[in-house]
Amino acid sequence: MNKIPIDNIQTLYDIIDQVNMGITVLDPHNKIVFWNQFMVKHSGINASDIIGKELFKVFTYLPKQWLELKLKSVRLIKNYSFVSWTQKPYLFRFSHDRMINDENIEYMHQDCTFIPVHNSDTAETYVCIAIHDMTDVVVSQQKLVEINDINKTLEYMTNHDAMTSIYNRDYIEKQIEYEFSKAKRYKSIFSIILFDIDKFKNVNDTFGHLAGDDVLKNTALTIKSQLRSSDMFGRYGGEEFAILIPEGTLDNTAFVAQRLRYSIEKMKTFYDDKEIQVTISLGIVQFRPDIKDYLQMLHEADIALYYSKQNGRNAATQYKPTGCELLNCSLLSFEPNL
Ligand code: GH3
Ligand code: MG
Ligand code: MG
Repeated sequence: MNKIPIDNIQTLYDIIDQVNMGITVLDPHNKIVFWNQFMVKHSGINASDIIGKELFKVFTYLPKQWLELKLKSVRLIKNYSFVSWTQKPYLFRFSHDRMINDENIEYMHQDCTFIPVHNSDTAETYVCIAIHDMTDVVVSQQKLVEINDINKTLEYMTNHDAMTSIYNRDYIEKQIEYEFSKAKRYKSIFSIILFDIDKFKNVNDTFGHLAGDDVLKNTALTIKSQLRSSDMFGRYGGEEFAILIPEGTLDNTAFVAQRLRYSIEKMKTFYDDKEIQVTISLGIVQFRPDIKDYLQMLHEADIALYYSKQNGRNAATQYKPTGCELLNCSLLSFEPNL
């Protein structure tokens, strides 16, 4: 180890006294024998007023049991011990130098190192406690967490529809595009259901726009409760919605569609003591390798939806290259999974 050219012990003492970290030394009875300027500044207690006093008598809030054990083991094992602020935010209740707006940090956060010091005169082991102010690190970490939270909120807002809290058009389209390219590459299958609330303009005209909003929210909630967590559900337009069913064949998607149609038929929305009921028309399409791109697939689902509208509404239609096929809507015998 390189030795600094310090010509007398006073210089060394001055350095330790003025260094920008807390240094205190305890004798074997935990009486304070050294208390540097950092400790004076942050505790508000002068060295002359504290030297010779027992640590736990001055700072009665200290975790006595834990700290006594720690000091004991440092003296016994004669080895360093380190306590990070992440384990224990602070030992001493010291004020910190941060701005007042960091009010959620009450006391200076501290990293504490316990160093055994051999006293050759008495052959006893003293303990030096070195305290590092970690408050700046804590504040930076908190800022990072805040930024992370803001990013998460922004991401949520970017992907979700504010009114219904389901995915928005951009997100559901991106997911369909991704699922489409996956299906092309791996020859997997998936299906899309597009649905639209029937005669929704009438709801607005009869009950008002706010009532219409409630119907939209209730519809989203009802449909979501019917889907599996792997299905993706988004608001595609005003009163139009899209569902992506991974691995959905035409048959099982048709079954899902019927269940959804039925659950909306049974759904009741109450607004100003008035009961509102609506129905939906659905279009279903399953991935086929001959479909050019996801937009064509969405277009085919739209054709099927339109077919449902033209055939009386409150209906579901499968798109097939050979033509649209209306599903048998008299299958009202099954109870939906409400
Ligand atoms: P169809 O059965 O042919 O779909 O008839 P429709 O009346 O549902 O169709 P149309 O497209 O004529 O009307 C859709 C209505 O949905 C018109 C629009 O004001 C309403 N709408 C769209 N977005 C919202 C919304 O966020 N809230 C409310 N309350 N109404 C909306
Ligand atoms: Mg409509
Ligand atoms: Mg519409």
